[in-house]
Amino acid sequence: MIRKLISRVFGGKKAAAGHREPAVIPVSTHGITRDRISSGSRRVCETLQGHGHKAYVVGGAVRDLLIGAEPKDFDVATDATPEEIRRYFRRSRIIGRRFQIVHVMMGQETLEVTTFRGALGDDAKTDEHGRVLHDNVFGSQLEDAARRDFTANALYYDPATEAVVDYHHGVADLKQKTLRVIGDPRKRYREDPVRMLRAVRLAAKLGLLIDPAAQKPIREMAELLENVPPARLFDEMLKLLTSGHAVKCITQLREEGLHHGLLPLLDVILEQPLGEKFVMLALANTDARVKKGKPISPGFLFATLLWHEVLAQWEKIKAQGELSTIPALYAAMDEVLDSQAEKLAITRRIAGDIKEIWALQPRFEARAGKRPYALIEQPRFRAAYDFLVLRAEAGEIDGELAVWWTTFQEADGEERAAMLLPDKAGDKKRRRRRKKPRSEGASPTSE
Ligand code: ATP
Ligand code: MG
Repeated sequence: MIRKLISRVFGGKKAAAGHREPAVIPVSTHGITRDRISSGSRRVCETLQGHGHKAYVVGGAVRDLLIGAEPKDFDVATDATPEEIRRYFRRSRIIGRRFQIVHVMMGQETLEVTTFRGALGDDAKTDEHGRVLHDNVFGSQLEDAARRDFTANALYYDPATEAVVDYHHGVADLKQKTLRVIGDPRKRYREDPVRMLRAVRLAAKLGLLIDPAAQKPIREMAELLENVPPARLFDEMLKLLTSGHAVKCITQLREEGLHHGLLPLLDVILEQPLGEKFVMLALANTDARVKKGKPISPGFLFATLLWHEVLAQWEKIKAQGELSTIPALYAAMDEVLDSQAEKLAITRRIAGDIKEIWALQPRFEARAGKRPYALIEQPRFRAAYDFLVLRAEAGEIDGELAVWWTTFQEADGEERAAMLLPDKAGDKKRRRRRKKPRSEGASPTSE
């Protein structure tokens, strides 16, 4: 009798994940009322339910609300097919990357609406390392829950009843601050190695501990990341670096031996004392910006991560003696970006931003004549200046240069003119041609 009851409540351990009844946790227990979710996600669920479908807010948003964090976005899971979803919402479109997803626009919000995914059959198509290639089979909510990565991510919130549907004890794990993989961690990492990165990122971001069974295999399986398409790695890296917990994430990635596959050379950079200091300062800076809600540019971030590699290449090329200083810098920039492109698909636009920031660096050294004025007018001046400040803080360049530029920007016209350094030899010719040779008012006392 008692056994029967236990097996009704817990679904019986023997039963495969597929036969378990979920726990339905009422609002009186978890406290998340429907006004805590975005109006867009509420309306999407209402519409779908109005058409007789199941519809829940799912994944990161429910998890974040349960631990008292602000969700980044709201995803919806439903038993409606992508075509059906398309029909119910005028402003929507199907996007098909790895999984078919429907983007539904509601006012300013874009909701990602996914159809419940089915269990992976034994005949699922994989690459030679076991990574799942196609994955578009629809299924039940129960199967959908089992396909998610962590127990804390397999929680479904129904705005109509305000209940949380929990198939894998995610609520209990969250309470215990544990990030647990659903199913056998090795198998799940093999199916999708990015889950290892997600484990590190989510643990760092949410202050959770990765369950030992999920943490242990990471080191051995890290090399599987090499087979992940670069565009996906880039997306994940970007999420990681802009999570507001980049320092923690990178530190943890190094501990887990995961950084090798991500940014080739990042490990080399992190081993040079100056490079490590610079990268860590840059990441701390980014984290602080994210926490203040300020925007951050991926270009700036990647420019910092790769800068010491550029410096090393630049020295090498200059030493070969074929190129002068600036062309050598351009050659070094291209080499570094090309070598990264193999692993990380840095988009062309971001690569352009990165190069601009790097290319402006030598121009900060020119502090005479009109050149500082021209530099300040550059559209990317602000980013390049922030970059310069970081270089100074890390001890790569003399702090005086950064201070000069900080003062120069804040100064008014007369003060600026007084700050300029005297023109050096190269400017003699120009002076001779001018009618009023000393009109720039360079003041030797400003140094
Ligand atoms: P974030 O706070 O970064 O948005 P998230 O968990 O919401 O974290 P998303 O990438 O938005 O991450 O994914 C939404 C949900 O989809 C996850 O909560 C999880 O349930 C599922 N999911 C995402 N990536 C994977 C994956 N690689 N394997 C299995 N499930 C995944
Ligand atoms: Mg999300």
